[in-house]
Amino acid sequence: MELNYLLADTHVHLEHDDFAADVDDVVSRAKDARVRYMVVPACAAADAARALELARRHDGIYLAAGLHANCGLHLDNAQAAGIEEALVRGKKEGLAVAVGECGLDYHYMALSHDEQLDLLRWHLVLARELELPIILHQREAEEDLRRVLDDEGVPPRGGVLHCFAGSRDYYEWARARGLYISFTGSITFAQKVRAPRAYFDRLDLKAAMLETDAPYMAPEPHRGKRNEPAYLPLVAEALSAKAGRPLEDVYAETTLAARRLFALPPDFGGAIAYRLRNSLYLNVTNRCTNDCGFCIRNSAPGVGGYDLRLKMEPTAAELVEAIGDPAAYDEIVFCGYGEPTIRWGTVKEVARAVKEAGGVVRLNTNGSAYLTQGRDVTPEMAGLFDKVSVSVNAPDEATYRRLCRPRLGRDAWHEVEKFVARAKRHVPTVVITAVAADAVSTAAMERLAKSWGVAFRLRRYASAPEKSRP
Ligand code: SF4
Ligand SMILES: [Zn+2]
Repeated sequence: MELNYLLADTHVHLEHDDFAADVDDVVSRAKDARVRYMVVPACAAADAARALELARRHDGIYLAAGLHANCGLHLDNAQAAGIEEALVRGKKEGLAVAVGECGLDYHYMALSHDEQLDLLRWHLVLARELELPIILHQREAEEDLRRVLDDEGVPPRGGVLHCFAGSRDYYEWARARGLYISFTGSITFAQKVRAPRAYFDRLDLKAAMLETDAPYMAPEPHRGKRNEPAYLPLVAEALSAKAGRPLEDVYAETTLAARRLFALPPDFGGAIAYRLRNSLYLNVTNRCTNDCGFCIRNSAPGVGGYDLRLKMEPTAAELVEAIGDPAAYDEIVFCGYGEPTIRWGTVKEVARAVKEAGGVVRLNTNGSAYLTQGRDVTPEMAGLFDKVSVSVNAPDEATYRRLCRPRLGRDAWHEVEKFVARAKRHVPTVVITAVAADAVSTAAMERLAKSWGVAFRLRRYASAPEKSRP
């Protein structure tokens, strides 16, 4: 299934003179390339005013503001006032999302070490005062950056190490402090000039973001030319290859990370919660570990008249808000327009909130959680799920492979079987289901269910009732 997911360019200097002549075209090309959000980090007071204007003019553009160590400007009253004013005004308008960029650059040395350190401390205080996250630049100054942040503390709203490149140790240090990291086009060419980065195999995509840093850092094959946000998908592709993660995971997780850090408003496109009869269904992802030939995602935009094609995924808080009072429904169901356990942490968090509010929770899953989470998650289901409905869709392994085309490993069928056996120990009701199809015999499915010790239910997608709103 083609995903509709959108990207966030978390660091793009659209305020730069290089874009003065054609910024509108640049923004429209970015949108065509599925870049939904652009954070413009102004590097001085004059740029901050320009960034605010851009954010006012274009939906999807947000600003940050700081005094970049490379500008060679001193933090006089005019600079400080200009930066603060743009941030305070922009914040009121919902457009200013961070302090920065700021930080330490011992490569260019436009300011002395002490001046740069003072400047960084000023920004850390400002981020605290304005309750904003911070965007940090660092070049050849890792030790000092770490020292200052350890001394002063990361601002409560967090921050990001932009244009991340460094050691595994630096990565672990950042993660331990809750800092996000963000990748530029340098990862499209770094492998040729440097050793592979040792943190990619352990990369936590939930705290990783993408950026172009345009007009700088053009990715391959545009290296040496002016960069622009429309090239962001190239950075996503490089990260997918380096981290060994599906491209759709990179799209979904990095946009979610950007929305979380910068509190960017959602643009889901499809419904994240929808009512069928008296159940409320939650649409947490359109990603799936299978590629079933009969998948409804290939043939319909949703069910029951609801469009379920997401442009981005919701956070746990957004889902809890969309639910409202769970006791008003017979059950809250994690739906199958995608595989919910791909977002296991979020699913658990929402299930917990629903249970605490007196609701009933059902999980619809294809039983692949072991493959996506790398562990047996069924003990974590105890007390959170009242019912688990596992769509098996085939009575045996060969048919399963043919119809469901599992994408994660050849062991998928056995993982489903193990999932069902384990889930029974922790969840009161476990059923297996199959979509009504000529290729699958109901009697064979019933025999399978019996041998697995669970009930079987036949599902008919076409019979979804017309939508009715509460
Ligand atoms: S498991 Fe469900 S969501 Fe995934 S491809 Fe199959 S039918 Fe579609
Ligand atoms: Zn920058």
